[in-house]
Amino acid sequence: MSRTFSILKPDATRRNLTGKINAVIEEAGLRIVAQKRVKLSTAQAEAFYGVHKERPFFGELVGQMTAEPVVVQVLEADDAVPKYREVMGATNPEQADEGTIRKLFALSIGENSVHGSDSDENAAIEIAQFFTDAEIVG
Ligand code: ATP
Ligand code: MG
Repeated sequence: MSRTFSILKPDATRRNLTGKINAVIEEAGLRIVAQKRVKLSTAQAEAFYGVHKERPFFGELVGQMTAEPVVVQVLEADDAVPKYREVMGATNPEQADEGTIRKLFALSIGENSVHGSDSDENAAIEIAQFFTDAEIVG
C-alpha cells in the first residue's frame, strides 16, 4: 500500500462536486484515509505550489486556490501516486481521457478540479503539510 495527496480544488467545491469526485476516486479503488475541508491562506498556496513560482500562471494559480475552500485528502492504494494521476487525467481537460475526473468535471487548465502528487517523495511532503499521522486512519 502507498499513499498520495489530493486536493479537490475551489472550482469543485464551488459547484458542489466533492461527492461526485469522491465517487470516481473510490470506484477506482483508492481509499480516502484522511479528509478535511480547509480554506488555504495565500502563504499556504504559495508554499504548496512553490515549484511553479517562476511560471507566468503562478499568480492566477494562487488566486484560484485561495478563492474558496478546498478539500484536502490522503488516498491509499497499491501504487497510489500513478493510479490517482491516471484517474485525474491530463492537466488540460481537453487532453484528458474519457472517464477521468478532469474530463468529467474540469472547466479549464487553470480550474481543473483536482490536484494529485507527482511522486512518492512529494506525496509525503504534501501530506505532512496538512495532516498529522494521527489524522490518517487506514
Ligand atoms: P496539479 O499539480 O494541480 O496536480 P498537474 O501536476 O497536472 O496539476 P502542474 O504542471 O503541476 O500540473 O501544474 C499545477 C497546476 O497549475 C495545474 O493543475 C493547473 O491548475 C495550473 N496550471 C498549469 N499549467 C497552467 C497554464 N498553462 N495556465 C494556467 N494554469 C496552469
Ligand atoms: Mg503538479
